[in-house]
Amino acid sequence: SEELLRLDNLSIEYKVKGGYLSAVKDVNLTINRGEIFAIVGESGCGKSTIAHSIMRLLPDHNERISGGIYFKGEKLNDMTDNQMEKIRGKHIGMIFQNPLDSLNPVYTTGAQVAEAIYMDNKNRLEVWEQVVKLYRDVKMPDAEKRVHSFPHELSGGMRQRVMIAMMLSRNPELLIADEPTTALDVTIEAQILQIIEELKKKFSTSIMLITHNFGLVAEVADRIGVMYAGEIVEQGDVFQIFENPMHPYTRLLMKALPRKTKFEGRLQTIDGAVPRLTDVKPGCRFANRCPLAKDICFSIDPQTRNVSKDHFFRCHFGEEAL
Ligand code: ATP
Ligand code: MG
Repeated sequence: SEELLRLDNLSIEYKVKGGYLSAVKDVNLTINRGEIFAIVGESGCGKSTIAHSIMRLLPDHNERISGGIYFKGEKLNDMTDNQMEKIRGKHIGMIFQNPLDSLNPVYTTGAQVAEAIYMDNKNRLEVWEQVVKLYRDVKMPDAEKRVHSFPHELSGGMRQRVMIAMMLSRNPELLIADEPTTALDVTIEAQILQIIEELKKKFSTSIMLITHNFGLVAEVADRIGVMYAGEIVEQGDVFQIFENPMHPYTRLLMKALPRKTKFEGRLQTIDGAVPRLTDVKPGCRFANRCPLAKDICFSIDPQTRNVSKDHFFRCHFGEEAL
């Protein structure tokens, strides 16, 4: 399998009043060509921070980054803004939770998709035909008609389809989807995910799918990184994570999963709160909520341990029964 993206000990801190907030800590992951890697975790655990760091969209001069972000072996965080501009959009695309933020209200959605294609092809008729085809690829109802719709005339699900169409027109090798379906109802959510999965199959696009919906990742992901308070606490392929979860946090998430319906696995809450990330104490970040925690967990950071070649977790006692 061909490595596309690799995060190597990535840590990110935001400068805040009175110090730094550790939003992402020692994250290691690899996304190979043509696979869906899901990053799953509660609100505030650092998912968007990872996505924005890859795209260089973090707020300027407010953060400290260490470690490496490698795309096809090249270190993105050493690139100039100009070099990065060439990567963004063409090689790595991103779709966001709220498509309205990315669409211009005064142009038709079709025109906005056409604009992206226009850079490579100046033939208006061909470009327009391609836009309609892209709308069909993303299963837009009434594709021929909808290319003329303005953003406000479309539903949330249709707008997200436009974003995917726009992204597809550039045919990036890696798509970062940051909670692309969170704002949508469950049936539309399922449809959008199906489209994302088809894209992977059809165009071999690699996808970093960011979500707090654990049930959803089971449906589409090849591999999963479970995040808690800035760290990946467990990583493995979808079967390893669901059949043999090792970290107590992952196991609690599993227990909380409703089994009956697909796409209904919204994360349930676990007692306790995420620790403050501004003055992080030594020890495991999950210790204060963990049913297995012992003294060592409050004083010594757990090392990453392998279950098998590509299944890791970070816990002193993960093999013990919950
Ligand atoms: P959600 O699921 O709610 O989108 P997330 O997992 O994407 O959450 P992030 O947005 O990456 O989480 O935030 C991680 C941590 O960093 C949080 O504690 C957040 O408050 C903090 N944070 C995010 N952006 C900034 C910023 N610009 N300045 C300071 N702190 C920030
Ligand atoms: Mg986020």
